[in-house]
Amino acid sequence: MKNNILLIHTGGTISMQINSETGSVTPSDSNPIVGLNSKLDQFANIIEIEAFHLPSPHITPVEMLQLRNLIVESTNKYVIDGVVITHGTDTLEETAYFLDLTTNFEFPIVLTGAMRSSNELGADGVYNLVEAIRVACSEDARGKGVLVVMNDEIHQAFNITKTSTSSVNTFQSPQYGPIGLITKKLVHIHQSPVKRRYVEVEDLQKRVSMLKVYAGMEGDILESFLQLKYDGLVLEGLGQGNVPPAVAKGIKRLLDANIPIILVSRCFNGIAEPVYGYEGGGKMLEDMGVIFATGISGQKARLKLLIGLNQVNSPVDLKEFFN
Ligand code: ASP
Repeated sequence: MKNNILLIHTGGTISMQINSETGSVTPSDSNPIVGLNSKLDQFANIIEIEAFHLPSPHITPVEMLQLRNLIVESTNKYVIDGVVITHGTDTLEETAYFLDLTTNFEFPIVLTGAMRSSNELGADGVYNLVEAIRVACSEDARGKGVLVVMNDEIHQAFNITKTSTSSVNTFQSPQYGPIGLITKKLVHIHQSPVKRRYVEVEDLQKRVSMLKVYAGMEGDILESFLQLKYDGLVLEGLGQGNVPPAVAKGIKRLLDANIPIILVSRCFNGIAEPVYGYEGGGKMLEDMGVIFATGISGQKARLKLLIGLNQVNSPVDLKEFFN
């Protein structure tokens, strides 16, 4: 029996076309990836919804929450065996991680996209879409959290990041690698997440920003977050999780004003930990109240803090939440 797959389109290059005269890639009036049922129904019964038609730099946590709600509402209307979401690649990892934190379905939720628009030579959109549907139909993909499928590989939302501006092999999971691969005949998954965290979120009122730390950075830019009334800040620190002394002073001002600061490393391998005891070193930052995020990138820590701060009914212990 064929699986029922909810296919949700949000836009991105997979839904765009290149203009042969100007060379620019733009969304067209109608989405070229919508209505491919004659190609897709050999794999599954497709329930298709065009949620947005947006380039992914236009996607915000508001659309991410709408997507989450759309999936939840659809489960009340249809019997769903899996979900596939087409999405622009620029912020795909953020939407994937948001959905990973805010849904707890057994069935697979799989995001995919394309690096080449629909009318370019070697367009990868329909190919990736078919592979994503095959993964969403796979029994082995159940209970694995939100997955990303591109270029014959299956990745977990937790690890995945866009690593190349243009290569079709852009999505990688630094440190850990893909959790599976897709061949012409097989969907092969060789790894399961050790644990998943589910958080209920209804609203996204708080404001959270992020800064990359650099050599010689000064502290005044951090203090500007006080005037701008941000509710939280993520810092991509140096190495193991350190900052220049002037930044440590700025951090102190924010923490004194009860603005939580989450620290990740700007290195894309390894885990930020409080190791160094010098001024601005991780130990000093931890003693001041900075929270170290275990093993996620800055953009994902930012979404996690946003979600954590929005738990108004049952406030989360941020330190526990991030570890
Ligand atoms: N700029 C495009 C987007 O994210 C890139 C893509 O989809 O591959 O919408």
